[in-house]
Formats: sequence, C-alpha cells, structure tokens
Amino acid sequence: MSTALVTGATGQDGGYLVERLLAEGLEVHGLVRREDLGGPLPEGLVVHEVDLGGPDDDLAALVDRVAPDELYNLGGVSSVAQSWADPLLTTRVSGTAALVLLEAARRVRERTGREVRFLQAASAEIFGEPPVAPQDEDTPVRPVSPYGAAKALAHHGVGIARARGQFATSVVLYNHESPRRPRTFVTRKITHTVAAIAAGRAERLVLGNLDARRDWGWAPDYVDAMVRAVRHDEPADYVVATGEAHTVRDLVAAAFARVGITDWEPLVEVDPALLRPADPSLLVGDATRARTRLGWAPSVTFTELVARMVDAERFDA
Ligand code: GDP
Repeated sequence: MSTALVTGATGQDGGYLVERLLAEGLEVHGLVRREDLGGPLPEGLVVHEVDLGGPDDDLAALVDRVAPDELYNLGGVSSVAQSWADPLLTTRVSGTAALVLLEAARRVRERTGREVRFLQAASAEIFGEPPVAPQDEDTPVRPVSPYGAAKALAHHGVGIARARGQFATSVVLYNHESPRRPRTFVTRKITHTVAAIAAGRAERLVLGNLDARRDWGWAPDYVDAMVRAVRHDEPADYVVATGEAHTVRDLVAAAFARVGITDWEPLVEVDPALLRPADPSLLVGDATRARTRLGWAPSVTFTELVARMVDAERFDA
C-alpha cells in the first residue's frame, strides 16, 4: 500500500485530496494545526499535530518517520489578503517550510533508497503583474505580494531539488473554488451574500475591485491535476488553469442570475477599503502542458461553478 503525507490537510484542497487518496486505498497522513483539531477531519486520516510554522526539526522528523511515497505540500497562509497582514509568517509557512520538506524528502531517499515524490501547490500569484496573458511555465516569476513571493521561493526550491535529481513537481494553480472556500475569498463571499439576499437575509453586497480578472476553476479538478502530476513518469512544472478569464463583475452577475435577479447593480456597493495595495489585473493560465502530458482538463464551466456555489448555500427559514 502506498503512503501519502499531506500538509494543509484541513484546507479546501487538502480535504478533497485526502478524501480522494483514502478512497483509492492509500494510507494517508495529514499535518493539522492544533487550532484545526476540533473541526471535522476525514475518517481514516492519520493526524499529526505539526505546524508548518513550527520548528524545522519537527517537520523533518515527521517526513522521516512517515517516509511517504507521495508528499503533497498544500499548507500555507491561505490568502493573498492575509499575507499582507503578516509577511514574515507567510514567508515561513508558504515558503521556507517547502525547503525543509524537500530536504527531508532527499534524506529519506538517501537512507532508504526510496523516492519521495514531492508536489508543491504553487500559485499564479508567483507571476505578479504578468507582462503576457495567458501565462505558462515559461512566464517570468515576479511576484508583487508577500503571498506570491513566498510561493515563488517554494516554486524555485522545487526547481533546484529537481535539478539535483529529486522527484519534485510544482503545480502553478490558478484560483480554484468550491462551496468549501472560506468567505474571505471573493467567490464564496459573493455566492454566500447573493444567496442571502435572495433569501431576504441580507440587503447589500459590498466589494472591492470589480474589474480584477481571474481564471476561476473547480477545486476538485485542480486536486486531480496534482495527483496526475505526482504519478507522472517525470517531475516538471505545470500551469493548472481553465484558460478563461472573468471579472469580479461577471461573477457577481452570474451569481445574481442564478437566483433570478437581473437588476443587481443597486444591490452592490464598492468600498475603497477593500482595494488591495497591489492586485494583479489579469491572471489567466495556459494549461497546455498539463493537458498534453497529464491528460488533464477542467470539467466544470464558470457558470456551472458559480451555480454550484450559490446552490450550496442554505438559509433555513
Ligand atoms: P486571490 O486572487 O487569491 O487573491 O483570491 P480572492 O478571491 O481573495 O480575490 C480575487 C479578486 O477579487 C482579487 O482581485 C480581489 O481584489 C477581488 N475582490 C474584489 N472585492 C473583493 C472582496 O470583497 N473580497 C475579496 N477577497 N476579493 C475581492
């Protein structure tokens, strides 16, 4: 039986990934922070109370003990917005922790002769304000947020480990959403509030930059790309994206359309306090490499994604 170790096991992607690996019959270990221990955890997950922001030795010792066949590094500061509040913590948990894990994986191979296949969940934020659209694996890495800078460090660490002969892969993930997204993300904030307005529970939707354009996909599809990438013969970098960009305004319109409201403009307010110090205006990815090498393709359209998220909101009468 194969063994997997997942950091960020309680996040959106970690949850979908752990469920999938358990269903496949793997022995699945997950890093869980103490504050997340009280929440629901997938049955069968072997829980380790280890924090990516904790001592390096604890992280390395865990990799050494579990000696997984597949190591998925999904943990980190979960949002760009949060990273502005604590850039140093962000660098630690989303950046240098990946280097600690990679080094520990290398030592497992030295000790046992078995390869630990390492997968880094990188982010489109590593491209910052990209000079080209769509972006691909050759687009220059030039982050403009603490989040992007930390993810870029981890991404480069993967490239260096690969050059040293390790199986290390980085998936450059564009925004990927689901009903499990926290409400700090714009997709869930919009779908939750629109469903609340339709139920008579809220009056207005207050947002920041309505013109930002993002490439939004369905989170379980992105988890599928991760698993395919880890099990491919060769490690590599892969952009994972739908290739379609939509504005925040499009998202608002699609969510209101789902609940039958067409005249939505009077219900939306822009609060300048929600604008960011730097905000990439157009992130859209070209996933040709993932499509051709991994046989990956997104399965859910933008309209369907918004509909699923609106429909998942429940307001009891
Ligand atoms: P990100 O792309 O990983 O930062 O994901 P988010 O869902 O947090 O933000 C996506 C885009 O929506 C960014 O360009 C934000 O500036 C924009 N946006 C506009 N209004 C809001 C808001 O009220 N909350 C959030 N989180 N983002 C907003």
